[in-house]
Amino acid sequence: MQEIYSHIFYPSSLNELLSIKNQNPDAVIWSGGTGLMGKQKRKVPVLPGNIIQISKIVELKKIRRTERFLEIGAGASINRILNVGQHVLPNALSQAMRLIKPSTVRNMATLGGHLCMPDFRLNLFSVMLLMDVSLELKRSGGTRWIQINRFFNKNGEIQLKNNEILTRIRIPFGNWNKELYKSDGNPFFDTGKAISFCVLADIQKGIINDYRMAIGNSGKHTVRSIELESLLIGKKLPLSLKESLAIAEKHEEWLKNLTIELSPFQRDRSIRFVYWILKELLP
Ligand SMILES: Cc1cc2nc3c(=O)[nH]c(=O)nc-3n(C[C@H](O)[C@H](O)[C@H](O)COP(=O)(O)OP(=O)(O)OC[C@H]3O[C@@H](n4cnc5c(N)ncnc54)[C@H](O)[C@@H]3O)c2cc1C
Repeated sequence: MQEIYSHIFYPSSLNELLSIKNQNPDAVIWSGGTGLMGKQKRKVPVLPGNIIQISKIVELKKIRRTERFLEIGAGASINRILNVGQHVLPNALSQAMRLIKPSTVRNMATLGGHLCMPDFRLNLFSVMLLMDVSLELKRSGGTRWIQINRFFNKNGEIQLKNNEILTRIRIPFGNWNKELYKSDGNPFFDTGKAISFCVLADIQKGIINDYRMAIGNSGKHTVRSIELESLLIGKKLPLSLKESLAIAEKHEEWLKNLTIELSPFQRDRSIRFVYWILKELLP
């Protein structure tokens, strides 16, 4: 039997990483390794070709806060982010992070690895989408920032060039005073069953100033409905019964016509969720 050997690079600085990636564009970035290896059932795991292990790079683990945003290095683990950011992380985001289970996985899994999973939009994606998070992508000799909604194209394909690395994630502080996040099932293992929802709203003196909602089916897509959102923005609370019913109906209609595929279980959960958020928001 032919044996296949992997070469493992172990850079200790960002510059070294970019130069290795430039010379070996096909080498796979290994951050926490949970996404790369978590589903392997073999006794002796098979490595995904040449690997660049990035856990020694201190620059990629930094977490800093300014007045306007929280900036997280792609190599920071989910549990460290929860720990360091406990007083500043937006509620919906920390809720979504805590729902990555078991907690031992959160010690290894990194934010960068979570967002770069090519085939899944996992727990944190819908929240970050609504929060207008921006991402820093670096390659040897260049840097670009993109909004998270452009990180995947309409077919759900990741927009990282061969020699690029996700280095920083910038989360702007919004004015949300209602943040709701719920997920059902494990999006990594139960792809046909898992579903996640996020709502962010800004309600001041009974007026809905902003309302955003996203649904993810754990496959390659997360959807948001600008049309539904604009239906609620500007409304004065409490709504009349007639208005509430009309809004609930519009949500159901939206769910029926979603472009992403939902199993009967996911559809049932989505409808329950919609009623739950409407009850929370529009009592
Ligand atoms: C037992 C178990 C339970 C889980 N439960 C949940 C759950 O409940 N909810 C949930 O949402 N998820 C869950 N997951 C999935 C988990 O969230 C992901 O595996 C994890 O976030 C990936 O992060 P990582 O650092 O381990 O990434 P890696 O496995 O290191 O990398 C993942 C992918 O991203 C690429 N990559 C990594 N970092 C970068 C970078 N900086 N730049 C460019 N590309 C990069 C890698 O090449 C790879 O393709 C679970 C996983 C396991 C193993």
